[in-house]
Amino acid sequence: MLTKAPKGTKDVLADEVYKWHYVEEKFAQICKKYGFKEVRTPVFEHTELFSRGVGDTTDIVQKEMYTFEDNGKRSITLRPEGTSPIVRAFVEHKQYAEVQPTKYYYDIDCFRYEKPQSGRLRAFHQFGIEIFGTDNMLADAEVIALADEFIRGLGITDVELHINSIGCPKCRKDHREALRKFLEPKYDQLCDTCKDRYERNPMRILDCKSPICQELVKGAPVMMDYLCEDCKAAFEDLKKNLTASGIAFTVDPGIVRGLDYYTKTAFEFVAGGLGAQSTVCGGGRYDNLIEELGGPDMPGVGFGLGIERLLLTLEAAGVEIPEPEKPDALIAVMGDEAKYEGLKLLKSLRDKGFLVEMDPAGRKFKGQFKYADHTGAKKVIILGDDEIASGKASVKDMTTGEQISVPIDELENELR
Ligand code: ATP
Ligand code: MG
Repeated sequence: MLTKAPKGTKDVLADEVYKWHYVEEKFAQICKKYGFKEVRTPVFEHTELFSRGVGDTTDIVQKEMYTFEDNGKRSITLRPEGTSPIVRAFVEHKQYAEVQPTKYYYDIDCFRYEKPQSGRLRAFHQFGIEIFGTDNMLADAEVIALADEFIRGLGITDVELHINSIGCPKCRKDHREALRKFLEPKYDQLCDTCKDRYERNPMRILDCKSPICQELVKGAPVMMDYLCEDCKAAFEDLKKNLTASGIAFTVDPGIVRGLDYYTKTAFEFVAGGLGAQSTVCGGGRYDNLIEELGGPDMPGVGFGLGIERLLLTLEAAGVEIPEPEKPDALIAVMGDEAKYEGLKLLKSLRDKGFLVEMDPAGRKFKGQFKYADHTGAKKVIILGDDEIASGKASVKDMTTGEQISVPIDELENELR
């Protein structure tokens, strides 16, 4: 127990963490390039935020939340997603009163009680962006363009953008009735959760993970055939915007998305090589969420992108992520006087921007060389009594094995 992390969680060790740094930096860079600003919200929120925001007929709220009562008897939930918290912050801090639209990005950990498998964890990570304050399809295209440039820019070519429109509350009514009619004869075979959804929100059944329900909904009426004029026009507009931006897409009427708050645009980036967990990035428009969460009637659009799945995709695509820089040099010292000279040199070279180390264990000379090997240092600067007396250090090139003598105040040039 004590020496085992909880099921569905993963440690990221030093031999892997550089990949995280790499994608995190790339994501922050592209968000800044597109004019998005980072927002950080707490890891937990009031449970009600998610039951209202994500929707109480969704898998997330019905089965997957980490909810507990704190010592003050409040119901608290570890965030299962990033949009509701960021909307909460937007409303709480009255950011809606500023000039709109507002463009935010986030880089967060999320928690969902799911069946752990490859690309599906209980503690996982997401990048995401949101644009609040406009219902123009330029915003949807901008959100999709950022995801597209980010994913492809990392070197992933085997990825497809699927788009759909899931309409608005107005046009969804007819679809809901058609769906109920279609499912009525199959009602008894639905899972218990979906029986409840049949009454409250039959569209959710289309997203059920149970293989039986998935089979039952085959051939069900699709939202695309029920769009109102407004939603239809918006979808046409989006397609034109994407085409003008040079973004390839496939219309996929099967996309529903697992959160209740979506309206109109829904999209997914689906990658090859990931099997069942192939959706790297999912998002869409949510025109009623901000109001639902106590804010003004203001539309929004955004995406969430799974970082673990992104890293799996990069691996499957054979993309090489640059390994971290090795130290320029390790200073190996012999004797006390050399140790103090070594510390001075260490500070001065670090001040000049070099990656230099000394063995912090203060081992014997041979041990310091072994340590230099372990760190991958390109050179070893040797300081002993002779070197200090002559003002020259010996510098060993660890690749060629060549050793030369260099005046201590010229070491900088040697490392450069
Ligand atoms: P799925 O259908 O795979 O369960 P979802 O619809 O629940 O995905 P979203 O809530 O839209 O996913 O989250 C956005 C992205 O976060 C997903 O596309 C995926 O890359 C990632 N993601 C979601 N759940 C997990 C999880 N349990 N572990 C790892 N990544 C996840
Ligand atoms: Mg899910």
